[in-house]
Amino acid sequence: MKIAIYPGSFDPITYGHLDIVKNASEIFDKVIIAVANNSAKKSFLSVSERVELINSSIKEFTNVEVDSFDGLTIEYAKKRGANVLIRGLRAVSDFEFEMQLSQTNKALCADIKTVFLTTKPEYNFISSSAIKEILQNGGDISKFVPNVVCEYLISKN
Ligand code: ADP
Repeated sequence: MKIAIYPGSFDPITYGHLDIVKNASEIFDKVIIAVANNSAKKSFLSVSERVELINSSIKEFTNVEVDSFDGLTIEYAKKRGANVLIRGLRAVSDFEFEMQLSQTNKALCADIKTVFLTTKPEYNFISSSAIKEILQNGGDISKFVPNVVCEYLISKN
């Protein structure tokens, strides 16, 4: 059984993330979206809000679940019996950081492999931080996030 963990901040989940999830769900037996509880990173949504919005956005996928974790991703992946970590790549600018992260994780546990996926071109440029900026400046975010996320963010803003 190939279990993949897709870790990240998901503050909030976007169509970019969801396209990665769709691809991963077609490749692996089980995909666990893992919301990192990273206290060093200032977030807009709490971990439980992010988990709830992800849950409402992944109903169509039968082999995808969402969870949250503290501490090292690789330790969480081991605990969940995962073989794979999934990360998304948008642009060359993501590459250096993601390469370093994957090599660090490989040094910590060689058995767990990082797999990089990309999205459809129309979702490639979407980032959670751009969405928060558009939202806070009164712009339209409905093209970038599922309806349930859009409505929640507007009500919270
Ligand atoms: P993190 O803080 O761990 O980078 P994010 O929620 O920003 O968390 O992103 C999680 C993962 O999803 C990262 O690997 C990121 O590169 C990827 N990702 C986010 N948005 C996109 C997108 N539009 N296309 C491809 N990958 C994406």
